[in-house]
Amino acid sequence: MTASGPNRRKAVVVGAGPVGCLAAMSLAKMGWSVDIYEGRPDMRLPSSKAAAQQRSINLAISARGLAAIQAIDPGAADRFLSTVIPMHGRMIHDAQGRLQSQPYDRDGQCINSIGRAFLNEDLLKEALAVPGIRAFFQHKVASIDFDRRIMKLQDVEAARDVDVSFDFCVGADGSYSIVRRQLMRVVRMDYQQWYIPHDYLELKMPAGPPQEPGGDPSFLLDPNHLHIWPRHTFMLIALPNKDGTFTCTLFAPTADFDRLDSDEAIVRWFSEHFPDALPLIGEQALLEDFHRNPRSALMSIKARPYHYKDRAVLLGDAAHAMVPFYGQGLNCGLEDVRVLDVLLREAQVDATSQVPEGEEDGRLASALARYSETRHEDLVAICDLAMDNYVEMRHAVTTVAYRFRKALDNVLYSFNRKSVAAQDVFPALAKTTFVNAPSGWLPLYTMVSFRPDISYSTLRRRFQRQTEILELAGWLSVGAAVGTVGITCVTLLRRLYSRP
Ligand SMILES: Cc1cc2nc3c(=O)[nH]c(=O)nc-3n(C[C@H](O)[C@H](O)[C@H](O)COP(=O)(O)OP(=O)(O)OC[C@H]3O[C@@H](n4cnc5c(N)ncnc54)[C@H](O)[C@@H]3O)c2cc1C
Repeated sequence: MTASGPNRRKAVVVGAGPVGCLAAMSLAKMGWSVDIYEGRPDMRLPSSKAAAQQRSINLAISARGLAAIQAIDPGAADRFLSTVIPMHGRMIHDAQGRLQSQPYDRDGQCINSIGRAFLNEDLLKEALAVPGIRAFFQHKVASIDFDRRIMKLQDVEAARDVDVSFDFCVGADGSYSIVRRQLMRVVRMDYQQWYIPHDYLELKMPAGPPQEPGGDPSFLLDPNHLHIWPRHTFMLIALPNKDGTFTCTLFAPTADFDRLDSDEAIVRWFSEHFPDALPLIGEQALLEDFHRNPRSALMSIKARPYHYKDRAVLLGDAAHAMVPFYGQGLNCGLEDVRVLDVLLREAQVDATSQVPEGEEDGRLASALARYSETRHEDLVAICDLAMDNYVEMRHAVTTVAYRFRKALDNVLYSFNRKSVAAQDVFPALAKTTFVNAPSGWLPLYTMVSFRPDISYSTLRRRFQRQTEILELAGWLSVGAAVGTVGITCVTLLRRLYSRP
């Protein structure tokens, strides 16, 4: 329900990324008056769109992100689903250009490819349609005095500094968060940030010609897969876009990128490692993208706690940037909003009556403390799983051991008759943080991507137990095999020596 009236307390959200927009919607629906401050220009302006179109970056949204949007605004979630491209599995491209499809789920559940700019713009529009939300673009937060509840901003267009007062501040300002840095001055925050020795670069694969005259452009690869060219120490991936193109991302060690220092070296390297992708991207387009698009670093951030008293909290990448190999960074950030929404409602935080000057809102403070306490283990778990998945995507998927384990995983999963479709748990997740301790055998990918009712820490513990069982089974099989060979040898030797 949307509250109105002069007594609404003021929340400021720093960052109009997807997490900031959803957080603003959540708070406004609880009765807060919400102002969003975004350092960049308004993404709805034609000039911003033109800039965004130069690089068609997309990402995979799965059940956790959708459950969060659904919890805050069910209508918005339905609208998103009509704009995505479902991806039902990985398509592995080997060095000879052979293809192998690996479905994500036995029941056909999928992850979804969506344009990043499109998702962000849509969430912004949804947010601005909620009464009580305003957005200020080109307003860059410079510093925050949490004790006085005053934020200093730079109004870039007017070239002046502005002071803004607030009751509650949400830091959704991404990996290089100023809110986090300012919080560290007043909170004893443990903080860890590290870069992996790999960079990424985005490349575009064009659409193919229409299948029939006047028809839509076609896709040059199967659009319902996430394509991967795993090459052990580096990899290329491709996600489909609605216009028939694919966004390809090359992940490689910085030293490998450094060696690609001429057009000839780039084309040679691509034709050696990605022989089927090169003609689809096109040599000219490949070189243009290589020279034009930035090469970016990848980092992982862990922090604790995420809040300060009753006045600030960090959400999304500001709290837990992670490497992108589980496709969970944004999903997890949106889930932060849902979890906080549930905790604020459970604590019955009242956004419509002012707290007397100098006093603290005890309910808000305890809800935020609970958020920090309960969310930390989940965020560490997914940051670590994302890191592990990099090795799986670029290397393990090509190995016999991986395929054997996957096959065994699926056999054991087939004994688990209980199928839970992600959207069946969505309604419950609007009211409670997580629902189930899972029962039966569940593959890790299924739990991460299709079971938003299971927290990241719970699913990691379950995965570790399942791994121990598989390892034990492996050792028992080896033991049984060695035993069988041993008995056979002894029997043969006995026969040999018992012969006259
Ligand atoms: C290559 C790559 C692929 C990825 N793929 C996936 C995927 O498939 N699935 C997935 O779930 N996640 C993916 N991610 C992760 C995902 O992109 C992020 O987790 C997500 O964008 C975080 O959203 P956010 O709103 O927290 O932060 P951001 O999207 O970074 O938004 C932060 C906003 O804050 C603004 N801001 C910053 N500083 C200030 C300031 N001082 N004042 C005012 N405003 C400020 C910024 O301008 C920005 O608009 C990927 C990441 C990478 C790098």
